[in-house]
This record gives sequence, C-alpha cells and structure tokens, in this order.
Amino acid sequence: MEARIPFLEVSDAIIYSGAETLYWCMQCGLCTGTCPYRLVPGPASEEFNIRLVQHLGQLGLEGFESENCLFACTTCRACVDVCPRGVEIINNVVGMRRMLAEVGTIPPSLKTIAGSLHSQGNPWSGPRDQRTAWIKDVEIPTFSEQTEYFLFVCCTSCFDARSQNIARSVAKALTAAGISFGIIGNEESCCGETIRKVGDEQLFQNLAQANIQLYNGKGVKKIIVTSPHCLYTFKNEYPEFGGEWEVFHYSEILASALSEGKLKLSGSNAGAVTFHDPCYLGRHTKLYDPPRELLRNLPGAELMELARTKNKSVCCQGGGGRVWMETAAGERFAELRIHEAVASGAKTLVTACPYCITMLEDSLKVLGKQDELAVKELSELVAERT
Ligand code: SF4
Ligand code: SF4
Repeated sequence: MEARIPFLEVSDAIIYSGAETLYWCMQCGLCTGTCPYRLVPGPASEEFNIRLVQHLGQLGLEGFESENCLFACTTCRACVDVCPRGVEIINNVVGMRRMLAEVGTIPPSLKTIAGSLHSQGNPWSGPRDQRTAWIKDVEIPTFSEQTEYFLFVCCTSCFDARSQNIARSVAKALTAAGISFGIIGNEESCCGETIRKVGDEQLFQNLAQANIQLYNGKGVKKIIVTSPHCLYTFKNEYPEFGGEWEVFHYSEILASALSEGKLKLSGSNAGAVTFHDPCYLGRHTKLYDPPRELLRNLPGAELMELARTKNKSVCCQGGGGRVWMETAAGERFAELRIHEAVASGAKTLVTACPYCITMLEDSLKVLGKQDELAVKELSELVAERT
C-alpha cells in the first residue's frame, strides 16, 4: 500500500510503499542482530539506521547523509527476512534516501553515477556507443521477433574490463546449449536498480520507461539477464510501469538445458568449489538450486557449502549503491566470505553476480589469499567446459 510520510511534505517521486510499516516496529532488535554490519568493525550499524528511520520526522535530515549512516545499507534483505512484524526496512531506508535525493544531499560518488546515467544510460561513465564493446571473439546475434530470448547484459559487464568476460561466458554457454537469444545493443539503458536503491526515483523511472518502450517496440517476450540485480528489477519493479515479460537469470536457463541434455559439459576437473549466494539471486529471488545444479555437474567438481549459506548467506557489500562507495579494509563483508571460503576447504569460490565478483576479488587481493583460493563467476566455469 502506498502511504504518504506523515511528517514531511513530499513530492510524488518519493512516496514509497511500506512507509506505514515503520510504525509496526516493536524494537525487538532481531534485525540489528542479523545485519552483517554486526560482523565487522566500523561506524555503520543497522541499529543506527532504524533509529534514524523512526526519528527522522523529529530530528530532520541534517547529518544523516553520510556513507557510514543511511547509505551504509546494502539492501541485502537479511533483516527483512527475520523481522516478526513485517517492517519493510529496505523500503524505509530507500524512502529516506529519496528524501535526501530530492534535496540533492547524497554522497558525491552517487552524484557521479547519476550524471553518467543521465547522459550515457549507464553508471560507468562509458560512452553509450561502446555498450557492446564486450563482444570480442564471440558471435552475438541481434534480437528480432524470431528470437526467443532477449539477452540483457548488465552495465557492469558491458563496461568493466574484468566483468566483460562474464557477458562473453554467458553468451558462449547459451550458444553451446542451443538457446535462441539476441541483444538489442547500444540503445539499451541501465535497468536502474542501483539508482533506485540510492534514492533517485525520478531517474530510475526515466530509465525504466525508456527500456520498456524499447523492448516492447522490439517484441520482447522473454529476457535472460546476466546479473541478479537486473533480474530483480525487471521481474518485480518494471511491471508497475508496463514492462511485463518472463525474466530469467542465466543460471536458470543453463540448468534447465543441462537437465534436458541440451548443454553438455566436459574438460578440466573443477575440483573443490563453494558457492556464495548473491543477495538478489538468493534472499530476494529464492534461486538457490540452479547455480548448484550447474556446479555439481561440472566435471570433477566437489561442492562444499560455506558455513553461512543460502538464505543465511552474508552479503558481499556491493548492493544498495555500496559498490560505488569506499569501505575501509578490515571493515568489508567480502573479507568475511574469503575467510569462510578458505575454511570450507574449497579451492574456488564461485558466485553469480558481477558486483559479488568485484567485491570478492578485491578482498581476495587485499587479504593476499590468491595462492589459497580462486574467485570465479559461475558462467566462466561453465563456458570453459562447453
Ligand atoms: S538490508 Fe542488510 S545491510 Fe541493510 S539494514 Fe538490513 S541487514 Fe543491514
Ligand atoms: S526486527 Fe522488525 S520489529 Fe524487530 S526491531 Fe527490527 S524492524 Fe523492529
């Protein structure tokens, strides 16, 4: 239910669903005990966040805009899952961010990505006409009405040099499985997931409307995405604006192709692997099995589980805009995951999200654990064995 925030005069852009649930909170503290900020040292804490939410009306906005306070939340959903009163904590955090965005009080790094989204349709400051620069050494068909799936490549895998290999690997594996897919290309814009979570609702809606018009105009019915963040947004947020398609993470399509015998895997032994569940694939979308099916079927793979796995997975800290902000070494969630992966006995830590790859690889290097562990994207392990 949409509700006006009672203590502020707000524009239509910052009205958000779940505002009324704020007042259902009984201060039990389960959310704060579950928040990953409890697992690391540092200034940010969920307890502080929820107090801010509750007292915003009385205390005003001043001083809440820091990266260590309201913008610390990664929208990982761990707190929402344990709240006994159904308080929509993420929606309320995002709602408060919208108020700050309305008055232009957001962290400087987020202003940079907003500017790039406005001018280029991506947060990477990459020229729009370079969106398909990731296409190297692979043939990528263009989407037409005869194509079954539109493949939407996340901006991170379009523009970030490391992440481009994820896009190529997904395309290679889909081709090997005989899937009919194609891209639209440079006309595509960011899905808008991050910019919505950091509070710029108007910019999100502009991106969503441009994408919906483009996809519907091309006759898109089914979408495969490379990132769980795009998955969540297309699936759950675009229908409100007229974007209604069947949306799949690539791991769902490849796991089905595997079980139907269309995808055959061969080649080098994968060895001991473990899986880090991305928050937007796991807790937000409840897709725990498809990536594990693929991992189990890699030649010579032994799947070990992390101590905190599936719905108990600990966030990599890349969501909610945090991937664009600096977190001091020693305070990073991804460092916890590297330690957990090493303790599991696995030699390869696998995940299925470009943000997780960025955060985990960075922490692997900071901790100097490259000799003990490798970090890989699921699509890369699959594509290497097609
Ligand atoms: S969504 Fe995650 S990071 Fe944000 S307050 Fe909840 S548990 Fe903490
Ligand atoms: S878990 Fe829910 S009810 Fe308990 S303190 Fe957190 S928001 Fe309030």
